Amino acid sequence: MNKYPFPKVDLHFHLDGSMVPEVTWKLAKERNIKLPAETLEGFKQFLADTADCGDVGEYLARFDLPTAILQDEAALFETIYTTIENVKDYLCYAEIRFAPQLHTKKGLTQKEVIEAIIKGKQKAEADFPSIKVGIILCCMIDDYDNSEENFETVRLFEEYCDKTNIVALDLAGFEDFVPMAHYAPLFVSPKEKGLPMTIHAGDNGGPENCSMVIDFGASRIGHGHKCYNDKAVLQKVIDNNIALEICLTSNIQCKTQPSYQKHPAKKLLDAGAKVTLNTDNMILGNLTIIDEYDRALEKAGFTYNDLITCNINAIEASFMPQENKQAYIDELKKHYK
Ligand SMILES: [Zn+2]
Repeated sequence: MNKYPFPKVDLHFHLDGSMVPEVTWKLAKERNIKLPAETLEGFKQFLADTADCGDVGEYLARFDLPTAILQDEAALFETIYTTIENVKDYLCYAEIRFAPQLHTKKGLTQKEVIEAIIKGKQKAEADFPSIKVGIILCCMIDDYDNSEENFETVRLFEEYCDKTNIVALDLAGFEDFVPMAHYAPLFVSPKEKGLPMTIHAGDNGGPENCSMVIDFGASRIGHGHKCYNDKAVLQKVIDNNIALEICLTSNIQCKTQPSYQKHPAKKLLDAGAKVTLNTDNMILGNLTIIDEYDRALEKAGFTYNDLITCNINAIEASFMPQENKQAYIDELKKHYK
């Protein structure tokens, strides 16, 4: 893990896509939930074999198992705790996101879901002082009218948002399944209150979605690499200092970019966009941030110093308290070669 001996940050990291396999296995067994393999080894092999999928739709279908498991407080607590434990040795700061409405199928309220996650996160931070974590609440794009659930997420976000536990609001799901403009009303109140937002856009959908979510009030874009396809949108991203949460491997697996070599991430960085590098779903995608850096260096044209810059960008764009940022940035600057 000393290959990249500088503080590393992951800003785009889904809880349900990053469950430790042993924990998924144990929690599923305890709850009589069907697993796709007979043994734990077989399950790990299944995760590796299915990391590459046909498209974003197929990718999202793989969340069915974690969603089936994460329906009670004990499962939520254990999952956030062990997920943080799993990355504590190589990340100094992570923003982990999840959609409370996906965890209410067995009677929990969104508020109870959020409370269980905060408890597990706080216990992990107390036990593993090398890492700090912020939680991002996702609204969902879905194939039915879930506006009531989404507005409840926004309401709870406004109640809980505090820069240390619940740090930002997001919109996730199958981009362009429903036009992005449909979701504008969700962000009116958070924008008026100046609350932090990062929104998935410009991954499966086009650059116009990047432009739209900036207007919604997002200071970061989840993925956002398609802004490269439209000069005016790219300029808007740069002029507004919008951070792009780039997830190279996820984009290749979902086929929203054809290859690491053709991914525009390095060009975006060189053009002056605030690029960050992230894992998206480290277990379902079968990768760590170390793998992502290896691929950035070996295949996507990044230099070692670019990796430092991406981490400085990530700290600057993070939703941690402003006064905590400078120490990380000073440390990172020492690692430029
Ligand atoms: Zn994502």
